[in-house]
Amino acid sequence: MTRSILAGVLILLAAAHANAAPLQVCALHPLMADLARQVGGERVKVVDLIAEGVNPHRFEPRPADLQTMQASALVMAAGKNLEPYLGRIRDTLQGVTVVEVGLPLPSLTVDPHGAVSCCPQHAVGTPDPHWWHGVDHMRRAARVVALAMAQQDPEGKTLYLDNAAAYGQRLDQLKRWARGELAKVPSAQRKLVTPHNAFAYFAKEFGFEVIAVGGMNHEQNTTPRDLAKTIEAVRNAGVKAIFPETNANTKILQSIATATGTNLGTPLIADGNGSGKDAGFEAMIRHNVEAITRALAPP
Ligand SMILES: [Zn+2]
Ligand SMILES: [Zn+2]
Repeated sequence: MTRSILAGVLILLAAAHANAAPLQVCALHPLMADLARQVGGERVKVVDLIAEGVNPHRFEPRPADLQTMQASALVMAAGKNLEPYLGRIRDTLQGVTVVEVGLPLPSLTVDPHGAVSCCPQHAVGTPDPHWWHGVDHMRRAARVVALAMAQQDPEGKTLYLDNAAAYGQRLDQLKRWARGELAKVPSAQRKLVTPHNAFAYFAKEFGFEVIAVGGMNHEQNTTPRDLAKTIEAVRNAGVKAIFPETNANTKILQSIATATGTNLGTPLIADGNGSGKDAGFEAMIRHNVEAITRALAPP
């Protein structure tokens, strides 16, 4: 009898715990969703607002998205002006904290090399929003996220900070591995020729140069003049391979590769919207490091 009462109480307790509403976090970038899951674990419910294949540079929240954000405790943006609509969101949402995860992290400036920026909003000379390609940046961002979650849910603070620290250790290992792999690329080949100026943080961390070339982007209309300039830039770089990106126009890229006698590398993941085995930050870095090493290191 006593035992069955005790068992009943335990079941009730377990049910009460299971029903404790998790902290709802709405992410405005696929990698912020991944980071929220790493740090929050089962204590948070993450809603990923950017659907697979949507370009985060072009995303504009619709009324339904605003409702989802309003129903969340936290909205996590990448920041550094990736989301120019944040001011409007802040004016509209009530009682929802909007966190720009990248805000406290050091910025790079969109480099004039090749004079191609990712989009009109991120012009040459403005802060480069693609901080999520820095492994150190992501480690620091985990702590930013842990503290933001703890502010909404103080009881979870230890868990969030512990998760962020454990994730940080994994990222340190990832960085050591990446360094080791990329060391196979000789210094003359340490150049990333890509259509979209997205890899500056990665390049800085791992000692590469980014050469963003025009006329290769799926969003741009390529004129013969663009193409001639691009071919010249690729010839001057003297690289073995150039890199398309997931969703980019491979047909034009293939003709540039043929004209310059270079190879087409495996498409790089630029804005974090990988899927399947390439989803999430660690998988993205592994994918990109492997693609770069395979294309630029001696066989
Ligand atoms: Zn952009
Ligand atoms: Zn981008």
